[in-house]
Amino acid sequence: MKKRILITGGAGFLGSHLCERLLKEGNEVICVDNLLTGSKENIRYLLENRDFKFIEHDIIAPLDIEVHEIYNLACPASPVHYQRDPIHTIKTNIIGSMNMLEIAKKYKAKILQASTSEIYGDPHMHPQSEEYRGNVNSIGPRACYDEGKRCSETLFFDYHRKYDLNIKVVRIFNTYGPRMSPRDGRVVSNFIIQALRNKDITVYGDGRQTRSFCYVKDLISGLIKMMESKNDILGPMNLGNPEEYSVLQLANKIICLTKSNSKIVYKPLPQDDPVRRKPDIKKAKDKLNWTPETKLDDGLKNTIEYFKKIIL
Ligand code: NAD
Ligand code: UDP
Repeated sequence: MKKRILITGGAGFLGSHLCERLLKEGNEVICVDNLLTGSKENIRYLLENRDFKFIEHDIIAPLDIEVHEIYNLACPASPVHYQRDPIHTIKTNIIGSMNMLEIAKKYKAKILQASTSEIYGDPHMHPQSEEYRGNVNSIGPRACYDEGKRCSETLFFDYHRKYDLNIKVVRIFNTYGPRMSPRDGRVVSNFIIQALRNKDITVYGDGRQTRSFCYVKDLISGLIKMMESKNDILGPMNLGNPEEYSVLQLANKIICLTKSNSKIVYKPLPQDDPVRRKPDIKKAKDKLNWTPETKLDDGLKNTIEYFKKIIL
């Protein structure tokens, strides 16, 4: 069946890949985005598609569109961007999520929330499974995002309990790939751009903090599998690649893959920067039969080619 699907944040990094994939599968896609961190460039080639519609809109304001499914991805994901206007970030996660839940309620649509590994904060449990309740500093600079996302999870489950809404909540771990914004300040994009320009690679702190990096194609498959899962699978569901690397290992890998002359320099570690992060994805393997397939080297090579095209 051809579905009518609303994707908020559809002009962003993950959203644009999701729009592309769902259109390829024969659906009608409505992309709603305020272009805060996303860009029309990411979706330009989709605008000619008759099944694609772009609406410039901030989800903090109510919206009324009849759809079968909603993927709620609207929210800046990079610390640099979500901290620029923290109150807007909180509003996006709370008021924006409620507006999307109201659409789902009115039209009995299935709705998926893009939550985040950040809800685990600086975790005391390693790797992080969905049962872990997290260690978030509620008054720190990352809280607008972490607590905003935690509250949106609460809203999703309350709408489910109160109105029997068909909800899906995924917790996305660090994801990278083509169409990451070069101005995002994220570790993968920063290091690749610095390496390609033979500029210093900026490692924050001593570089021993870890992250697990999932390639965008794998993540998008996980989102769709979750949306298509049985009604009793609500989540939360971790989606990420469990291969863990220190930031320093990542820097050396990127220097090597780009054959760069860059040197590593050390900069202060941002406040509340989590020390370790690695998803436990047993639940996604069991319930969705999902597992990431792309090796870090292969994903990085594709991402390097993308950045070569846009910055060199
Ligand atoms: P992104 O910044 O590239 O995309 C977010 C999109 O949402 C942008 O196009 C932006 O313009 C739009 N947006 C922001 N606020 C909005 C608002 N109020 N109304 C309408 N549109 C708005 O980020 P991304 O990496 O594509 O992340 C997408 C989603 O996935 C986010 O919700 C993010 O929290 C979540 N996530 C991403 C990662 C990751 O590693 N990329 C990790 C965890 C969670
Ligand atoms: N980081 C870094 N240099 C950079 C950008 C980020 O060392 O130029 C570090 C950052 O401090 C964090 C890790 O890389 O420990 C991942 O940062 P990112 O902003 O990509 O994601 P998040 O902190 O949200 O996981």
